[in-house]
Amino acid sequence: MKPLSNSALDTSLIERGLRCKCPKCGQGPLYDGLWSFTLKERCSVCGLDYSKNDSADGPAVILIFVLGFLLVPLALIFESIFAPPLWVHGVLWGILALALTLGTLKPLKAYIMAVQFKHRPGDWE
Ligand SMILES: [Zn+2]
Repeated sequence: MKPLSNSALDTSLIERGLRCKCPKCGQGPLYDGLWSFTLKERCSVCGLDYSKNDSADGPAVILIFVLGFLLVPLALIFESIFAPPLWVHGVLWGILALALTLGTLKPLKAYIMAVQFKHRPGDWE
């Protein structure tokens, strides 16, 4: 994997985020398993200690804002066109919000950790 560059849109950061890989080497897995949201203690390839810099609730807060911004207007448009019963909204938007949240939380957290590592690598030592 390429070393981190200084360009404004660093595709290696996005790639590391999407693949949920180590922010330093881009090789070691960041999480305990495919379905786990628990970070490993350290990288199995380069030994980077993940516990030194956890992104905490940042990715979840970003998802709340982004998904809320996207899903609420979609629900309003859906209501104005189809006017379904209320339980349809509950099931449809509940499942959609849960699926989008679970599907994007791990890559977003990995991306934020990669950005943190790029801009403040001294915090990880
Ligand atoms: Zn690593």
